[in-house]
Amino acid sequence: MNRRDMLKAAGTAIAGATLLGTQAFANESTNQSKKKKALIIGAHPDDPETGCGGTILMLRKAGWNVVSVYMTKGEGGIVGKSHDEAAAIRSQEAREACKVLDCRPVLMTQIDGNSEVNKERYAEMMNLIAAEKPDIVFTHWPIDSHPDHRVCSILVYNAWRRLDYSFELYYFEVMSGTQSTYFHPTDYVNISEVAEQKRQACLCHKSQDMGPLYDNWHIPMEKFRGIEFRCDRAEAFIHLRRDSSDIPL
Ligand SMILES: [Zn+2]
Repeated sequence: MNRRDMLKAAGTAIAGATLLGTQAFANESTNQSKKKKALIIGAHPDDPETGCGGTILMLRKAGWNVVSVYMTKGEGGIVGKSHDEAAAIRSQEAREACKVLDCRPVLMTQIDGNSEVNKERYAEMMNLIAAEKPDIVFTHWPIDSHPDHRVCSILVYNAWRRLDYSFELYYFEVMSGTQSTYFHPTDYVNISEVAEQKRQACLCHKSQDMGPLYDNWHIPMEKFRGIEFRCDRAEAFIHLRRDSSDIPL
């Protein structure tokens, strides 16, 4: 096989693996009778935006309803501010980011830096997802340096099982190499056409000094995933398939 054939074969394999980037959007554009819904569930204000902001915009362009869920209000995330003060500032930043992304924010009641996994929290997450009736849920990959990210991931995974796998589950990455690790994507979304709008949404998180963080971490990540997916900028995901053997029934 010459190099051109190899590249062609690799391209076919990548496209075939990209349920989220191809078939999901294509299906939606030919069937507008029922609007599909995606939930993006992150631990803190700025996690859904940085991990999935481009995908949120692409889903909105395809006519999906999108809800950005924040498990905490970022209470511990501003040095020198009380929990209440930080929660008020960061909740407002999340609402402003959601305006840029044209999606609906939902703020939950866990506390940043002190999130819990117990029967009540399992039920709370499950009930929220059950009430929203999503077609797809995106959440944190569980192998992550931040305890709140791990908690969020495990609560959503439990809801997926308890709700009888009623939605497609995708994991997103945040600051791979520092926070998410062992993240080997199965699916990609080309976000090149909305990359600047995603950046503007992320910059709404002024309290997090997002400008340098975005330029130094998020843009290189988007470009690296773009190299893998053969476009300028991409977001990458791990899809747990309901029919696969990775689900212990
Ligand atoms: Zn976070």
